[in-house]
Amino acid sequence: MAVTIYYEQDCDPSVIRGKKIAVIGYGSQGHAHALNLRDSGCDVRVGLREGSSSWAAAEEAGLAVKTVEEAAEEADLVMILVPDELQPQVYEEQIAPHLHAGDTLAFAHGFNVHYGYITPPEDVDVIMCAPKGPGHIVRRQFTEGSGVPDLACVAQDASGRAWDTALSYCWGVGGARSGIIKATFAQETEEDLFGEQAVLCGGLVELVKAGFETLVEAGYPPELAYFECYHEMKMIVDLMYESGIHFMNYSISNTAEYGEYYAGPKVINEQSREAMREILARIQDGSFARAFMADCADGHKWLLEQREAINTHEIEQTGERIRQMFSWTR
Ligand code: NAD
Ligand code: MG
Ligand code: MG
Repeated sequence: MAVTIYYEQDCDPSVIRGKKIAVIGYGSQGHAHALNLRDSGCDVRVGLREGSSSWAAAEEAGLAVKTVEEAAEEADLVMILVPDELQPQVYEEQIAPHLHAGDTLAFAHGFNVHYGYITPPEDVDVIMCAPKGPGHIVRRQFTEGSGVPDLACVAQDASGRAWDTALSYCWGVGGARSGIIKATFAQETEEDLFGEQAVLCGGLVELVKAGFETLVEAGYPPELAYFECYHEMKMIVDLMYESGIHFMNYSISNTAEYGEYYAGPKVINEQSREAMREILARIQDGSFARAFMADCADGHKWLLEQREAINTHEIEQTGERIRQMFSWTR
């Protein structure tokens, strides 16, 4: 299944520059979308709760800030960037009453539309611009002249022009500089949840932690284990990111490369792959979404317990201590 990748010459900036945009929420993605679109010459207002702590920050950055209702009413494109679990209520109470025929409703993740927690009216376009990176990197790379790649998707095309809007919106946040990939809401939702769970966040943190604990348990100093299994991770990943696995392998010693081929498949083995298939199945059949939403309704009880456990783990305390000693921190 090949995909089409779109670059700057494929996008029409006038489409997004011709719209009044409301960015709802000013968190990780919200600040990046609002500022990048503004710097791309678009007409942006930010929609926030009255008394929101982000209100002053958005105004200081030179953005117009309104209540969610006012921003949604004024705009003809509403991008919802509040946390996924809050979107159904914010949408129902503060956005839906202000959507008019011909408007565009936009998301950065397909969760609520794909799992049916939000069902937009038939006379609006429903699109997605999902940056494949954390919001602060979306902003940082834009200001540096590069950009994080985006997935662009259309769930509903009432106007017949939804795709042009999606592509142009992605251009505005900087995605066309490194590539915009056309996908569906189902693909984005499922691959994004899988990636963050199995590889990027879940897999990575657990791998680093397991390596650290193995060395510490065997009597090695935690500082040594931290530098080896945690700090050095970024350097290896940077080499892969910039020039490929083959270049990372070229840069490391033959000893390291031999060990990689021998040990890698022992750590990530058939049991790990079976676990990955189970994780994907739970995402595809909606079980993960239901479990997540149930914990949110329970005040994030399970999530907060897990957060507390990692925040107080020896690996974090070791890292905290070591990072304070870096010359660029001091
Ligand atoms: P976040 O938690 O960083 O920010 C949410 C913001 O929403 C808050 O800062 C606040 O300004 C606002 N907010 C909270 N409650 C609100 C309310 N009731 N009314 C109005 N505003 C409210 O969220 P995020 O991580 O940027 O996620 C936003 C969306 O982007 C989600 O759909 C997420 O899946 C998607 N996404 C996030 C990332 C990422 O890097 N974090 C990457 C890709 C996609
Ligand atoms: Mg995600
Ligand atoms: Mg992701």
